[in-house]
Amino acid sequence: MQSAETAYIYALCEPDHRRTVRYVGKSIDPDARYLSHIDSADKAKEAKLPKARWLKKLRSKGLSPTIEILELCNEDTWRAAEKAWIAYFRDISDKELLNVSDGGELICRRRNYIGERFGRLTVVSYSEAPGLVDCVCTCGAAISIDPGRLVSRNTSSCGCLRREVTSRRARKAHVPIQKGERFGRLTVVRRCRKRSGGHIQYEVLCDCGNTKRVAASDLRNGKVVSCKCFHKERISELMREVRRRA
Ligand SMILES: [Zn+2]
Ligand SMILES: [Zn+2]
Repeated sequence: MQSAETAYIYALCEPDHRRTVRYVGKSIDPDARYLSHIDSADKAKEAKLPKARWLKKLRSKGLSPTIEILELCNEDTWRAAEKAWIAYFRDISDKELLNVSDGGELICRRRNYIGERFGRLTVVSYSEAPGLVDCVCTCGAAISIDPGRLVSRNTSSCGCLRREVTSRRARKAHVPIQKGERFGRLTVVRRCRKRSGGHIQYEVLCDCGNTKRVAASDLRNGKVVSCKCFHKERISELMREVRRRA
């Protein structure tokens, strides 16, 4: 028999022979949790969640999901394990995983900030420091911050925005962008003939091979430094780090 502290990481799966995993969760009583999932399809508060919609669809066909235990954990290890399993199934599954968060948080948390974007900052995880969240900025920098400051819009970058505004003010002369000029990972290919919303645009080539159109101002002030590959890499790097740390 397992002790009272055992935390189970479980998966809800499609009830077909392939058992595709659709949802990953943690419970100290998986049987009871399974039943509450089945009921959740009817709860008004949860009905809009993708998981509830899936359960409802199954039920309309007279089906129920299957539950599989993925791992036995304890109070100290379940957060990292849940996050890792969610990331794993998001990665390998051919059907979308229906979890709305990245796992590891307590259900009583009022707002799930993970994945939310505030200005230049995207929340990637809950910090080790209580009450803080880890964010990655579009410039690639990582910061930990009180989410209240994000919600109140007091903070919308790692500090790069303020630095840019200051340096832009300092730069009096308007310097035209040259073909071949580099901005982060981007090389300017040519000036686009058409403006977009009145803004001059440039076609740029990213180091990863993607091309993209960027407003001249976004290049100058450092708001855009890649085709987005830099930001994506930074987020997955931080997610790996968080998982290793947890
Ligand atoms: Zn920044
Ligand atoms: Zn790129």
